[in-house]
Amino acid sequence: MQAVVLMGGLGTRLGERTKAHPKSMIRVEGIPFFDYELFLLKRSGFTDFLFLTGFGSEEIEAYYGDGSSMGVRIRYSRDGEKLLGTGGAVRRACELLEEEFLLLYGDSFMDIDYAETLERYNEAEKNGATCLMTVMKNAGRFDKSNCVVRDGKLVCYDKENPLPEMDYIDYGVSIYKKSLFAEIPEGEAFDIASLQKTEAAAGRCGVHIVNHRFYEIGRPESLKECGEYIKNRFYEAHPAVFLDRDGVINEIVYNEDTELLDSPLRPSEFVFRPGVKEALRLIREKGYYVFVVTNQPAAAKGKAKLLTLMDINTAFAGELAEEGIDIEAVYTCFHHPTGAGGTGRGDRRLIRDCDCRKPKTGLIFKGREAYNLDWENSFMVGDSATDIEAGRSAGLKTALIGDLKCDICARLNYCRPDGIYSDLLSFAKSIRERGE
Ligand SMILES: [Mg+2]
Repeated sequence: MQAVVLMGGLGTRLGERTKAHPKSMIRVEGIPFFDYELFLLKRSGFTDFLFLTGFGSEEIEAYYGDGSSMGVRIRYSRDGEKLLGTGGAVRRACELLEEEFLLLYGDSFMDIDYAETLERYNEAEKNGATCLMTVMKNAGRFDKSNCVVRDGKLVCYDKENPLPEMDYIDYGVSIYKKSLFAEIPEGEAFDIASLQKTEAAAGRCGVHIVNHRFYEIGRPESLKECGEYIKNRFYEAHPAVFLDRDGVINEIVYNEDTELLDSPLRPSEFVFRPGVKEALRLIREKGYYVFVVTNQPAAAKGKAKLLTLMDINTAFAGELAEEGIDIEAVYTCFHHPTGAGGTGRGDRRLIRDCDCRKPKTGLIFKGREAYNLDWENSFMVGDSATDIEAGRSAGLKTALIGDLKCDICARLNYCRPDGIYSDLLSFAKSIRERGE
């Protein structure tokens, strides 16, 4: 999908700094801020960009050019003399827009699962949606809440008039059909929020709930905070703990229909194991990043819908985020090589060989590509031999949780773990603090 980036921010609140550069070009650790977001987007497969520029467009165009040196295509649309607002700037670029496009801001760092954003848009679009908004459960943590979400749909969005029932906040990544803009007269200044408000009220706006907080550089304090985050993430090595999900974070579920132990197939079946939140808090406090790496082939096997599996991750990571426990990412393999062991009605897109299904290492290396990690002091923690094998292959230290499978592991020399713990909390207590 085409990615359209609003780069016209004046950055008036940043004073002196933006006199020299447009906001998205402010240097963070020596390179333009937007380079970091471009890295995330490229990594998610976006290669076709349209930059909507205003103040400082010459500098942006001189630096990024046509994008070929970065392996992407970049085109430009310049705001004219008149300030058109976010909506007007998009309308002005109409001839360069694809039928559907992703829209984001050039002054924000937004590390979300963009593939999930597209999946959720496609599903909503089948049901008549013309756009999609990403939102985050706010609970008063950031700015004022401005959205109501019901049954996976955005039903109300209003930045001006906050209502008591609003508990989500818009996140700054959205998808639109071009036709929404084609109807608006050219040259008219308007805020894109008014369009989202109308579409939400009419039930035509899909939603993707994200959990990882965003960083932006609109104010001196937020620029400082964002700069520190970027420095930590990209320039200073931190150790990480990669965690398997089922059997480590949550209880395995007994499925009465199949009489088998299984992964949760709906959010209500997800139950945290005792002590897990305390363990995650402790791991974070000791200076480790936390990544969840999990195989979830139920949609490939036809036992659940892909979006339901995504909902399960959204719900548990959201619960943790609300309690102040940050996990960097949940990397999920939804594939299965054959779909065997299922209903025979699996999601065909997911039935294939991949490089991410553990014991392969694709999920673990996703974290390594996107963060500066102290690999020697990082761990893979799981409750099965495939987790240990994946950790081993990736060159991590390994820890096995639980005692049920230890007898098996003891017999399998090739994947014997470096440590065995009764639960995640005892593992968390055992690891050293960063730099100790
Ligand atoms: Mg497991």
